[in-house]
Amino acid sequence: MSDAATEIWDIIIVGAGPAGTSTALHLAQLAPDLLAKTLILEKERHPRPKLCGGGILPDGEVILRRLGLDLTEIPHVDVEWAHFDFSCPGLTMRAKDDMPYAFRVIQRDEFDAWLAEKARQRGCVIHENTSVQSLKVRREYVEVETNQGVYRGRVVVGADGSNSLVRRAIAPKSGPLPARLLEVYTTVKPESTPHRFSDSYFDFICIRDGVSGYVWDFPALVKGQPMRNRGVYDWNHIGRAGRKPLKQVLSEELQRHGQNPDDYPLAGHPIRWFDAQATFSAPRVILVGDAAGVDALYGEGISIALGYGKIAAETLRDAFQRGEFSFDGYRQRVLSDPLGIALRRRTFFSHIIYHITSPALQRLIWCRLGRIVKWLVQTFLIGWAER
Ligand SMILES: Cc1cc2nc3c(=O)[nH]c(=O)nc-3n(C[C@H](O)[C@H](O)[C@H](O)COP(=O)(O)OP(=O)(O)OC[C@H]3O[C@@H](n4cnc5c(N)ncnc54)[C@H](O)[C@@H]3O)c2cc1C
Repeated sequence: MSDAATEIWDIIIVGAGPAGTSTALHLAQLAPDLLAKTLILEKERHPRPKLCGGGILPDGEVILRRLGLDLTEIPHVDVEWAHFDFSCPGLTMRAKDDMPYAFRVIQRDEFDAWLAEKARQRGCVIHENTSVQSLKVRREYVEVETNQGVYRGRVVVGADGSNSLVRRAIAPKSGPLPARLLEVYTTVKPESTPHRFSDSYFDFICIRDGVSGYVWDFPALVKGQPMRNRGVYDWNHIGRAGRKPLKQVLSEELQRHGQNPDDYPLAGHPIRWFDAQATFSAPRVILVGDAAGVDALYGEGISIALGYGKIAAETLRDAFQRGEFSFDGYRQRVLSDPLGIALRRRTFFSHIIYHITSPALQRLIWCRLGRIVKWLVQTFLIGWAER
């Protein structure tokens, strides 16, 4: 194995998804000297595909705006209203009542490439097509073995997604990923569905099938073409026996909206949701984004990944100022940040909401108690980026 670089980088970030590039962009703001000695290693080349509904909540846009970035530079759809149903029409809301839209939908290949380019413009070096294969934490640095050779960094940020190799290196007993998402892009058929193109729908109807989650339906703009992104989220994929296979749940959902499931390839991916007791760091290594754990309730992770970037950059700045890289305090930093508080609450609410398996009670929650649910969501679960 060749030595890809004899120099020792201060920071090596593994993964140029939103968590990795947000860490770099926040370093550019908080500690530009450190960014000059930061390297991102990315196994793909942007723009690269990433399975994702692409829904970005306003919290994500708050973080981007603070970084001086405007999401509307790239193609997007403004989702007018978010509906939370249980077969029957239920609660309709926006993140904030005074906003003109509920959230925005982007395409991840375009969004991630845009963010990576912004990080590059601010001085970040990104080595693409460089896949990290193993990590060895030494006394003075971390040795990062890749398909392009060995790199060395004083610290490593694991921003390499839900199947994180960095996480497995520092926490080999992390256990299986609990949640799973399955998604598909379909054409738009307004004549076969009551759903409005401009709106997004979260329908908890699949709880009847033993799935701890919901089916979603978002508007999307794929290469200029209006499409729908539909999927199913299962919070506890490994937990419950006897539930209907997710593929069947999504196929039935497609049929319910006049689509033929055989016309489209379904694709799925697991996700790690936030567990306050999980591993977040080890000496010389911290985790961000999906690698650390994201929203349990909806599987939301883009704005969460952007939020982790800020916490990570602050942590790195302080560590280099002190010359101390144990990262003992990183978990507490995450937990006490408004993002960590919101994530803890979402995990707590998931344990409640997904243990209510009675259709009558679920219908009551979404279709009768809408005002209370909306207040809970707006007060405790979202809006963390402005706190
Ligand atoms: C089907 C589906 C739908 C979703 N829909 C939404 C949604 O609508 N809204 C939302 O907010 N969230 C959604 N999510 C969650 C969201 O996609 C993730 O939470 C988000 O991508 C996390 O960002 P990240 O930067 O932590 O990880 P990723 O986006 O996974 O980025 C990790 C990066 O690391 C790179 N990498 C991985 N391994 C290595 C390696 N060994 N060496 C080098 N590089 C490596 C990858 O190529 C990738 O670029 C969805 C997830 C799925 C699976």
